[in-house]
Amino acid sequence: MDSLVKIYQGKETVHAVEGVNFEIREGEFVSIIGPSGSGKSTILRMIAGFEEPTEGQVVLDRIDITKRPPFDRDTNMMFQDLALFPNYTVSENIEYGPKQDGVSKKERQEMAAEMLDVVQLEGYGDRAIDELSGGEQQRVALARCMVNRPSVVLFDEPLASLDRQLRRQMTTELSDIQNRTGSTFLYVTHNQEVALSASDRVIVLNDGQIEQIGTPDELYHSP
Ligand code: ADP
Ligand code: ADP
Repeated sequence: MDSLVKIYQGKETVHAVEGVNFEIREGEFVSIIGPSGSGKSTILRMIAGFEEPTEGQVVLDRIDITKRPPFDRDTNMMFQDLALFPNYTVSENIEYGPKQDGVSKKERQEMAAEMLDVVQLEGYGDRAIDELSGGEQQRVALARCMVNRPSVVLFDEPLASLDRQLRRQMTTELSDIQNRTGSTFLYVTHNQEVALSASDRVIVLNDGQIEQIGTPDELYHSP
């Protein structure tokens, strides 16, 4: 992110993001934490391509992707409301994106099977979504989000609706999945526990600016 600025011009002018610079390395798990309204989601949406920055650039693998549409960025976003298709099976949900892209049935099935393996839901392909527990649905949503193997996976508070125990379990699983796939994860949360336990580095945002950035150790155990 190079000098990202986002100003919303409505009835009032909102300076949501005010000159944010940071660099994420390939394979890193980075969390952005900060109070509600500090600009976390706006940053994520600008990286995903759902929102155009007022100023600044988003660069991925040395390519300026600021003006590219979301599908042409090698990023994908997982939302809190998982947006699974309730009338589709687990596999049909995971295969949906590749199907839209015209991937052959055989190849799609292989892709889905591989993702079910990654999220440890082998044998769940033919299940209906409403037969799954909350945690299992989270994993299907993650599989669907990662099936195209995007370089960067973006998370907007995906675990906020879960109870504490399940959130802990999913945080550990997310971290394992990230390690297994070598993907880059950028994770927005207001939950410090998630940020501390899973991240390589944490960005603390306040009023649209980076207040601190560092490893969990550097941020929370320094004098
Ligand atoms: P966070 O994710 O940290 O809660 P947001 O990025 O959602 O923060 O919001 C940052 C600021 O931008 C807030 O003041 C919010 O009200 C404002 N904002 C977010 N989206 C819009 C929008 N579409 N139009 C106008 N203001 C917005
Ligand atoms: P959680 O602890 O996440 O609430 P559930 O009690 O919903 O878990 O589910 C526990 C197990 O039962 C899961 O493996 C889930 O797949 C299975 N399950 C839940 N609801 C149904 C259903 N309607 N039909 C078949 N299996 C179900």
